[in-house]
Amino acid sequence: MTTITNLPQERRLVTAIPGPKSTEALARRAEATSGGLGMAIPVIIERASDAILLDIDGNQIIDLGSGIGVTNVGNSASRVVDRVIEQVQAFTHTCFTVAPYMNYIEVCEILNRITPGKFKKKSLLVNSGAEAVENAIKIARYYTKRPAVVVFEHSYHGRTNLTMALTAKNMPYKDGFGPFAPEIYRVPMPYSFHWVGNKATISQDALAIVTGKIEKEIGAHNVAAILIEPIQGEGGFVVPPKGFLPGLSKFASEHGILFIADEVQTGFARTGHMFACEEEGVEPDMVITAKGIAGGLPLAAVTGRGEVMDSVHVSGLGGTYGGNPVACAAALGTLETIEAENLVERANKLGKILTDSLLGLQKKYPIIGEVRGRGLMQAIELVMPGTNEPNTAAMQKVVKYCQSQGVLVLTAGTYVNVIRFLPPIVITQELLLDAMSVLDDAFGSL
Ligand SMILES: *Cc1c(COP(=O)(O)O)cnc(C)c1O
Repeated sequence: MTTITNLPQERRLVTAIPGPKSTEALARRAEATSGGLGMAIPVIIERASDAILLDIDGNQIIDLGSGIGVTNVGNSASRVVDRVIEQVQAFTHTCFTVAPYMNYIEVCEILNRITPGKFKKKSLLVNSGAEAVENAIKIARYYTKRPAVVVFEHSYHGRTNLTMALTAKNMPYKDGFGPFAPEIYRVPMPYSFHWVGNKATISQDALAIVTGKIEKEIGAHNVAAILIEPIQGEGGFVVPPKGFLPGLSKFASEHGILFIADEVQTGFARTGHMFACEEEGVEPDMVITAKGIAGGLPLAAVTGRGEVMDSVHVSGLGGTYGGNPVACAAALGTLETIEAENLVERANKLGKILTDSLLGLQKKYPIIGEVRGRGLMQAIELVMPGTNEPNTAAMQKVVKYCQSQGVLVLTAGTYVNVIRFLPPIVITQELLLDAMSVLDDAFGSL
């Protein structure tokens, strides 16, 4: 039933980036859309399939961003497209809390089964990652009857008022947008590349600092939830040292605090596990998902312990569009694709190839201070050679060069010096290596 033609999986430039048609259209963009919106690559997209974006000038661009870790199953994945078309023809909306439908229930059943934790789980569907984070905090406060939420340095949880408060970085996310919600407490993150203490004992040392702050400064009995990304996304793909997440989760359960994993960027096969928490066997009380859940349609979820998710009074949760049937159809197509195409395994296999390429570049170019990540969630942090001082200028030049050659890469990092790689997991090895050769040339051109 799929009506789209698949694009050949190869990079092809027929004009400069941006080409004449994109240039003209971008003038209209500037005229019509809010100046508060950013833009990673200056082209207008006409069509996309798997790991190739086609712009209106006919350029084929390699997608190493997946629309910020969303199209893990590839752009316009056929199982997603087919199910969406079928659902649009059946009905587009009833509101699940007005007249329920089956695919919302099916998505929740699958999430309850595949998220970490062997206990009874239940789910709630909403529209965006930020909305899911907001709901997780609402539920955690309701269940525990406690006000405080503990979050980490370098964290990112969204752009709504509560999630801005939970997010660490001021520019561009928070500056001028306050006042922010109260009862949010920020604690240090063991970011090993910038850790000033002993790196051999970073995990225990960071745990001691965090639990000490919770006990002495906040009072553990006041804390509803500890909220953490199992690998930080916007903060620069900061991977916590081994033992940190299990230690935190253990401390939380000993103090009646809910441990909430924000798996919005790490979820759905991205890190070589279905969810990043699986790496160390951590079983969060609640898992927040979005981005990769529905192949590009707006959907997000909170999945948690049955007794926690059921504690809220009837109609205390909801929203008009949450768990829209078309988005749920897309989620079912996405989950089917991950399983049918073994994308968890594929993220591992391609992740190794990507890591090896990046480590090779690090040997050649000492401005690459660190290569880090897991699976197909990898990043490089650019520095002044031999130090850990950020090199933002080099990052900007490399990104610009990659764009000019038809490779879309995203940036990240508190210090604005990280290039992150989040290709669709279905990307071919050839295309990934072609992108890496462009990256090599980009560093060579500095
Ligand atoms: C993107 C992101 C969010 C916010 O999701 P939106 O859908 O943009 O609201 C929350 N947490 C993490 C870790 C994210 O990467």
